[in-house]
Amino acid sequence: MRFLHPDMYVSNLFNIDTGKLKKSGIKAIVFDLDNTIVPWGCSKLEDEMLGWFAKLQKEGFKTCIVSNNTEERVSELSGLLSIPGIHKASKPRRRAFIKAMRLLDVRPEEMAMVGDQVFTDVLGAKRLGMYTILVVPISKKEFFGTRINRQLEKMVLRQIKHRLIGNQELRVRSQESKR
Ligand SMILES: [Mg+2]
Repeated sequence: MRFLHPDMYVSNLFNIDTGKLKKSGIKAIVFDLDNTIVPWGCSKLEDEMLGWFAKLQKEGFKTCIVSNNTEERVSELSGLLSIPGIHKASKPRRRAFIKAMRLLDVRPEEMAMVGDQVFTDVLGAKRLGMYTILVVPISKKEFFGTRINRQLEKMVLRQIKHRLIGNQELRVRSQESKR
């Protein structure tokens, strides 16, 4: 189970404590795309998200997208963010993470992975000894294959739910969506 537990668990990207990452020696941050940066199937980036990525760059972090999605989709979004992207990553396999590590010229312990799935993003990155950050998926809509993993994921989430950072905000948001 150790390989399934993220080092940080946040309700959205904006709740990531980048100061803490810096102190832990993290120099590069690798991002999943779908339901981590944008809702699944959506190609529009919010200004708030663009601003947040600009802030990361200003703070000196190298960034990259590592996604299991197609070249077309990944290059569109990585182009909008002006960061490199690796497509058809086959996470949780290690190959794409190693590619990202070479691309960003860092060691595994200097790299953090941010993603919304335990069995692809967290597991894959942990296998290489990377720092892992799990984020609550932006949207409920997703690839049908993901839904099976989500059932298994529920067990892991039950064990770590007390660690979620920013869940106050999450509660407010879900109340708002009910109105
Ligand atoms: Mg995802």
